[in-house]
Amino acid sequence: MVRLESKCHISPPRPPWVRGFFRILSAHGLPYSHSGNAAPPLFLENLRHPPRVVVNEIHCSSTKPDVAPYLPPLLKTLKKKNMTLKPIQIYDTTLRDGSQGEGISFSLQDKLNIARRLAELGIDFVEGGYPLSNEKDVAFFEQIRKENLGDTKVCAFGMTRRRSMKAEDDPGMKCLVAAGTPCITLVGKTWDYHATDVLNVTLDENLAMIGESAEFLGRNSEVIYDAEHFFDGYTANPAYAIETLRAAASAGAKYLVLCDTNGGTLPERIAEVTTAAIDGTKDYDVQIGIHTHNDGELAVANALAAVDAGATQVQGTINGIGERCGNADLISVMANLALKKKGFSVLGGRNMKHLTELSRYVYETANLQWRGGQPFVGQSAFAHKGGMHVHAINKAAKTYEHIDPALVGNERRILVSELSGRSNIVAIATKHNIQDDRKLMDKILSEVVRLENQGYQFENAGASFDLLIKKLSDSFTPHFHPIKYRIVAGDRDFQNEVVFAEAIIKLEIGDKLFFDAAEGHGPVNALDAALRKTLSDTYPSLNEMRLLDYKVRVVDSGGGTEASIRVNIESGDADETWGTIGVSENIIAASWQALTDAVEYKLHKEDAAKQA
Ligand SMILES: [Zn+2]
Repeated sequence: MVRLESKCHISPPRPPWVRGFFRILSAHGLPYSHSGNAAPPLFLENLRHPPRVVVNEIHCSSTKPDVAPYLPPLLKTLKKKNMTLKPIQIYDTTLRDGSQGEGISFSLQDKLNIARRLAELGIDFVEGGYPLSNEKDVAFFEQIRKENLGDTKVCAFGMTRRRSMKAEDDPGMKCLVAAGTPCITLVGKTWDYHATDVLNVTLDENLAMIGESAEFLGRNSEVIYDAEHFFDGYTANPAYAIETLRAAASAGAKYLVLCDTNGGTLPERIAEVTTAAIDGTKDYDVQIGIHTHNDGELAVANALAAVDAGATQVQGTINGIGERCGNADLISVMANLALKKKGFSVLGGRNMKHLTELSRYVYETANLQWRGGQPFVGQSAFAHKGGMHVHAINKAAKTYEHIDPALVGNERRILVSELSGRSNIVAIATKHNIQDDRKLMDKILSEVVRLENQGYQFENAGASFDLLIKKLSDSFTPHFHPIKYRIVAGDRDFQNEVVFAEAIIKLEIGDKLFFDAAEGHGPVNALDAALRKTLSDTYPSLNEMRLLDYKVRVVDSGGGTEASIRVNIESGDADETWGTIGVSENIIAASWQALTDAVEYKLHKEDAAKQA
């Protein structure tokens, strides 16, 4: 398979061997691809931006003799330009290992959204959860199965079969199969002590548990074997640790993942033991992966050390969230592999411009504060204290940066003028085709800065942002004018543990007055019900809209004296889901903003569809 990707192509003449190479590839129907659609194939000789080129493997010299003469010069050029890159698979476990972090809880909707986002970015594996542990994970697999996630493989996670039980009779094994994922991650014990003293099984029974489980699960899915406590286990009993890997490999596992479960191993030891694991399993057709925890603040360094030693899969979580001190942060892993280390490609050679957005999306979805000093994607990662003219700073700042912040979708910040909303604005402006309107862009930018100082964050509230742009460009027509709402809350039925609330809403549509009331479990629910009830006669499509998720957080408003409440609402209909936001010192007022934005977004969407 020859795969070439490049966004840049230089005009002819191409050197004859390149011409010949492509001609022969097509004549033989060899799979090769290059991006850039209508553009002619790239000219490797003249490439000025090498990082986009990925050549994974070239396998045609023996069977296709015509190609042979063209390969050496191709390879020589690629090597000279450092373009022969080894692909490293990225395995995300944010939804399983990440959700074990203190204070982290994902709703079903959160999990689906994160999985979709990860697939959009081309993450190779997304671990969805542990189907035996809870119904939410079962529901997750049920839904995600119906979706097209491109090349991304969803994995279910679970343990080896119980002792003295057949794999096919084990409830955990059955749940894993029922999840219906193309890939199953099986975790087993490496450490002899864990087998004998925690599981209470003989060392041989542990090997049988690993082998039989891998064989059973491998009948319908690809099996990734996670070797728990591999590094500690190897230190205690190296021969046995390797035996456990061989048990999984001989049963058909495709990947053997070495886990530093306690997170205390140093990089040089990781490299040494990874080398031993590769050596000990070299008779099998398997790849080695690495799964590190951050207890010594070395999770990323340890993952990279394993890659240097030959591992080809890295497991971790977005932003490094996870139990105790967390997992390897895949953001840093990907950025380092793609942008800094030589010789590797991740995500099929895609660029890393979405990392900042992805990082913030996961924080917002997990309802966590961003980590300002987070490498690569933190707000402070490229922040410079100013004092000079902005131009001069922008120029000088480069000499204080290890990479161009744009490569990871982040931006330089000069700490006198806040520009944090810019990347968002550019993306949305392009969607609305207003990027050339300088005046409007400036207006939007200053409004976003003002709102961010009040505690707004638009990363997870694209629909509110959309409406904001409509308002600022005078293309917003409200579908209703609220006149007032009133909430009566506090009725409590102790027998049924439910808090009742009632909301009354008065609003105007055109010149007609509408007035209605509804009950709900709690004030926001009542408000939502009353709003839709009042509007639905005029706008029946609101009946198909659902409120999917509701989040509240106390935020520090920029220079304000009072703490603000930020409400995020996720709504959906049959076609899409959308996020809205409200900020106020009053939780009901913030919720009202987010609710009315959600409804307006739906109605504007409908109008646009009718016009189209
Ligand atoms: Zn883990």
